[in-house]
Amino acid sequence: MFLKGKSALITGSTSGIGLAYAKALAAEGAAIAINGFGDAAAIEQERAGLEATSGAKAIYLGQDLTKTDQVEAMMAAAADAFGGIDILINNAGIQHVAPVEEFPVDQWNLIIALNLNSAFHTTRLAVPYMKAQKWGRIIQTASAHSLTASPFKSAYVTAKHGLAGFTKTIALELATFGVTANCISPGYVWTPLVEKQIPDTMKARGLTREQVMNDVLLAGQPTKQFVTAEQVAAMAVYLCRDEASNITGANLSIDGGWTAQ
Ligand code: NAD
Repeated sequence: MFLKGKSALITGSTSGIGLAYAKALAAEGAAIAINGFGDAAAIEQERAGLEATSGAKAIYLGQDLTKTDQVEAMMAAAADAFGGIDILINNAGIQHVAPVEEFPVDQWNLIIALNLNSAFHTTRLAVPYMKAQKWGRIIQTASAHSLTASPFKSAYVTAKHGLAGFTKTIALELATFGVTANCISPGYVWTPLVEKQIPDTMKARGLTREQVMNDVLLAGQPTKQFVTAEQVAAMAVYLCRDEASNITGANLSIDGGWTAQ
């Protein structure tokens, strides 16, 4: 339990990859703040499970991170609970699939607000504590789409490329303070986010469900396997180790070979 005494805030962690990070960091003893939407009873069950696993405090912060004032409220609540955040994982993200000329403006704005802007706001508020204590870990769930593009995902690809650039910049700013900043860039991970985009992709490309799974989602993934959320979380745990103190500004692909092509 090498993270005993450390605190971790993971945005968008009531589901999917975020929840897997929370469980993996709790298993190493970290106190955890989870965030995101969902059924209150199910979230409470996950929160209690994290406490049982870690033996440390776990809290739920339900703010909507598309809104700057709510990101600020979440960061203040986490600082109150833990005294400061040692490990920040910017993971909350949404997707919308549509041709650019039909892309709903409100969806564009929401995706940029959540997938990109919220990471700036959490980071600017977490960094003073990390710098002062000369230790911190900032981890972004970016995506293969931070390195390459796919049609009909203009907002998402834009946000993820932006997140990759932001991460390199803060890695340089924080390099002498014991604070690392890295992107983890998964290919397709089987989570509700992927499942939900299947109907839109069927519509946008005129394909069946099976065609979307095999010819679109796994077409670019040479292993022909979905990445698992646990594989992504294991990388985050590694990045928190002292052995990873010289990994900073990196964009670490876990994509079954997608971006090697
Ligand atoms: P998911 O839909 O399972 O989880 C998204 C989480 O974000 C949920 O907890 C949800 O409640 C939360 N959320 C949504 N809107 C929010 C808001 N306004 N404020 C706060 N929280 C909000 O998705 P996932 O697949 O686990 O995705 C997590 C991250 O991984 C995203 O950034 C996504 O872009 C990235 N990613 C996913 C895949 C994949 O194939 N699933 C691949 C690469 C990158």
